[in-house]
Amino acid sequence: MRLVLLGPPGSGKGTQAARLKVELGVPHISTGDMLRAAVAAGTPIGLKAKAVMDAGQLVSDDILLAMLEERLAQDDARKGFILDGYPRNLAQADALEHLLAKIGQPLDAVVKLDVPNQVIIGRCEIRFKAEHRKDDDPEVVRDRLKVYADQTAPVAEFFARRGKLQVIDGVGTLDEVTERVKHALNWQPAAVNG
Ligand code: AMP
Repeated sequence: MRLVLLGPPGSGKGTQAARLKVELGVPHISTGDMLRAAVAAGTPIGLKAKAVMDAGQLVSDDILLAMLEERLAQDDARKGFILDGYPRNLAQADALEHLLAKIGQPLDAVVKLDVPNQVIIGRCEIRFKAEHRKDDDPEVVRDRLKVYADQTAPVAEFFARRGKLQVIDGVGTLDEVTERVKHALNWQPAAVNG
């Protein structure tokens, strides 16, 4: 299964991907997690990315594409992946399409988690208090929502034109949302042989 999860910051992409990877048996690839790891490790990419991330803006497309290409070349991604946080703009959507065509791994589906802004703002506030992520500061969340509306929302349209987009309601319990994603994917557990 090669899946992209789309949705605004705080829509639950990371939480759902962490649950789905177990059932789908494919790795969860979060570009936000990869960048945060680079920041924590103080790598050259991390040093470049930190201020941009703290301000809730997008890190450069070149850095992201190189990071993703390297990650998808790893063994565990051969059986598929759940991509969370990429693509974030139309240039990245285009780059992803080309990269996946090059490695012969076209996407199976794109699922967008629909969550109203008011709910997002509340969730990010809770996460800010718990995890102290600078970009969950309510002021930065407003900027992230603007970046999402301006740059990321058109990505849904990009995949809709290719007949790959499914939009689901991202408000509900974790189990309810996981079930909705699985339903959208028409996913059934593999039959147990014997
Ligand atoms: P996330 O955890 O997905 O919300 O990502 C946290 C931050 O990492 C974002 O606000 C961006 O600054 C950066 N980031 C993550 N993924 C991307 C991407 N695909 N393109 C550009 N910046 C990204």
